Amino acid sequence: AFANIKQLPPDPLFGISARSKADKRSPKVDLVLGAYRDNEGKPWILPSVKVAEELVKADPSYNHEYLAIDGFKTLTVAASKVALGAESSVFSENRIVSSQTLSGTGALHLAGVFLSKFYTGNISSVNADTTISSENRSKFYVSKPTWANHIQIFDSQGFDVKTYRYWNDASKTLDFEGYLEDINNAPSGSIFLLHSCAHNPTGLDPTPEQWIEILNTIKSKKHLAIFDTAYQGFASGDLTKDAWALRKGVEILDTPIVICQSFAKNTGMYGERVGALHVVLPETNEPLLSAIASQLKKITRSELSNPPAYGAKIVAQILSSPELSEQWNKDLVTMSGRINKMRALLRENLEKLNTPGTWNHITDQIGMFSFTGLKKEHVERLAEKHAIYLVGSGRISVAGLNENNVEYVAKAIDETIRH
Ligand code: PMP
Repeated sequence: AFANIKQLPPDPLFGISARSKADKRSPKVDLVLGAYRDNEGKPWILPSVKVAEELVKADPSYNHEYLAIDGFKTLTVAASKVALGAESSVFSENRIVSSQTLSGTGALHLAGVFLSKFYTGNISSVNADTTISSENRSKFYVSKPTWANHIQIFDSQGFDVKTYRYWNDASKTLDFEGYLEDINNAPSGSIFLLHSCAHNPTGLDPTPEQWIEILNTIKSKKHLAIFDTAYQGFASGDLTKDAWALRKGVEILDTPIVICQSFAKNTGMYGERVGALHVVLPETNEPLLSAIASQLKKITRSELSNPPAYGAKIVAQILSSPELSEQWNKDLVTMSGRINKMRALLRENLEKLNTPGTWNHITDQIGMFSFTGLKKEHVERLAEKHAIYLVGSGRISVAGLNENNVEYVAKAIDETIRH
């Protein structure tokens, strides 16, 4: 019965990681996977998380019961306030519905299933009986390039995933004109997936002025925006600063907004799968909010029954304690500070070596990643000759750099470019 199943190549990212793991040379540098490492190259458990874990377990009511279908309400409400700011009118006007998800990927997936069923270009038509046929689905736009998983998450829900221009390879800057043109040329009511901050893979975000123009253009075309919020606080060390574009979106747009929120990077709890999907309506509409909540629950019930509890309790503990929140803010500064220091050191070393090219983009970019501009043949030589692993696109995870290896990496890049 399974005779025709085709062998697929390994996932591009995890495939390179496997190759890196198998390489026993020393020194070896793994700049592939987007996970924070400390200056010794080791995973880091945030001090705020450590304390929260102890408190959660010490609570006399601690157990391993199921959560509700839409998850741990203390978490999802607190998470929505982290994203939007507790003072947002979204809360006083009761315009938001939230569901706990399997981290950011699960939030994107739930958004994809929900939109594929109900979004016709006019979300106010959501009701229990509507199902949209694939030919009537809205066009779905992601940035070029984007996190590779975006494409397959939405493709697998039957969306015709298209790209909007983003990265200008020659100048290593935002192709702002192209971006706006593509928003304007997309059929009205299309879906635009936006990275709230620390764009993956380029590390390049629009400026505030550019964001305002992007959001106003999306508004004028009546597109629907999905904000993928995977690096809030991790990028700059400041939760409010990193939420600026998202909050501006909520202020400017007059259509519903979908927010896919991950706590993987900003709490370092990658494997605990803590995340949430939020749908924000432009105006109070309790029947619609309730209908959306019921549909999200129906999808979750059939797919995972209910989301995982452990990480949710830990993040909820942090967010509901002022002392732990303060510690968490310090932890965010520790992580973003170390990454920014590595950006500066890599650039400094390359400039000291007079490595051909310009390197200011490394410090202009923010977040976990840097789009170095290295080409496929460079990436291959770095792996083969220097045991330095990065993604074929030239993306490096800056978190993989530390004071012990950054000079080695710079020299290897220099040798590779001059080769
Ligand atoms: N969106 C972006 C842009 C990401 O980079 C990632 C993680 N690499 C995610 C979403 C989702 O991550 P997770 O499912 O681990 O929360």
